[in-house]
Amino acid sequence: MSKSPEEEHPRTAFGWAARDKSGHLSPFHFSRRETGEEDVRFKVLYCGICHSDLHSVKNEWGFTIYPIVPGHEIVGEVTEVGIKVKKVKVGDKVGVGCMVGACQACENCNNDLENYCRKMILTYSSKYHDGTVTYGGYSDTMIANERYIVRFPENMPLDAGAPLLCAGITVYSPLKHFGLAEPGKHVGIVGLGGLGHVAVKFAKALGAKVTVISTSPKKKSEALEHLGADSFLVSRDQDQMMSAMGTMDGILDTVSAVHPVLPLLGLLKYHGKLVLVGLPDKPLEFPVFALTMGRRTVAGSSFGGMKETQEMIDFAAKHSITAEIEVVAMKDVNTAMERLAKNDVRYRFVIDIGNTIASTKL
Ligand SMILES: [Zn+2]
Ligand SMILES: [Zn+2]
Repeated sequence: MSKSPEEEHPRTAFGWAARDKSGHLSPFHFSRRETGEEDVRFKVLYCGICHSDLHSVKNEWGFTIYPIVPGHEIVGEVTEVGIKVKKVKVGDKVGVGCMVGACQACENCNNDLENYCRKMILTYSSKYHDGTVTYGGYSDTMIANERYIVRFPENMPLDAGAPLLCAGITVYSPLKHFGLAEPGKHVGIVGLGGLGHVAVKFAKALGAKVTVISTSPKKKSEALEHLGADSFLVSRDQDQMMSAMGTMDGILDTVSAVHPVLPLLGLLKYHGKLVLVGLPDKPLEFPVFALTMGRRTVAGSSFGGMKETQEMIDFAAKHSITAEIEVVAMKDVNTAMERLAKNDVRYRFVIDIGNTIASTKL
């Protein structure tokens, strides 16, 4: 017989969970495993609210396991380490991103691409090696095998750094892998949300010329003056789009709603690449001739491996790259979710778990 979430492990834990597809979050008592030989246990201090959390609590992708404790931009302070742990010690600041496990034996795992392992285990609403459900960072404590722990650099703020663990690596990895953001390259960033705004910062730091492509002309001054983009295109403005045709080496598309792709393909030079990292819940459509005529590529990318995630956070610390955030208290998480659904945030909510979760305990 399966045990309740509160009884299946020896260590008590407390978080906020959604119980059904209303997505409404409320206090939830559950449990976490004992600290194993290779495990790192930490007190959660901050957790970003990712668009995936919103999709997942409402089961919009169809694979949510309820109750779900979301959160995969988790930062905290180490409280216990297993005897074989070498990476960190008690008191260190650490993070966990989108995954907490993989097979560690396949070709992808052996190439530091655990994120593409067929047996990769997501940080929440996934089945762990022992068959129990994984719970994410909207909770007071977290535990992970040290392989899935990121060391947080000294000068990286914990709150504004947290979103880099998903949003940051999700844009950094394709910018690097597809060679989109190198000196001399012109890259377009579509969508100026949680992912897009950090993509602009990384692409600039990597040396590219950066154009933000957005439906909203209101974001122009923000993109140019605050985030440091070189130019700005309003995707609904035909004249602007026409004059930018064939000028980009690559485009990183971060939009997670269904949207037209053909106009973006037109912006690419011949042999250019459009890389999708947003996850619309319905298929996108485009005519194939737009690819064949210019030998263009449409590709996708899903966060990044642990080695690259560490590289990303160290690079971000060196170049003072953080997310633009609005910090909220645990009790206000549902309001934050509603605002996120309306894109009413600049640009990422981060929950102050460390200071505000205890007072919500029943
Ligand atoms: Zn995410
Ligand atoms: Zn594997």
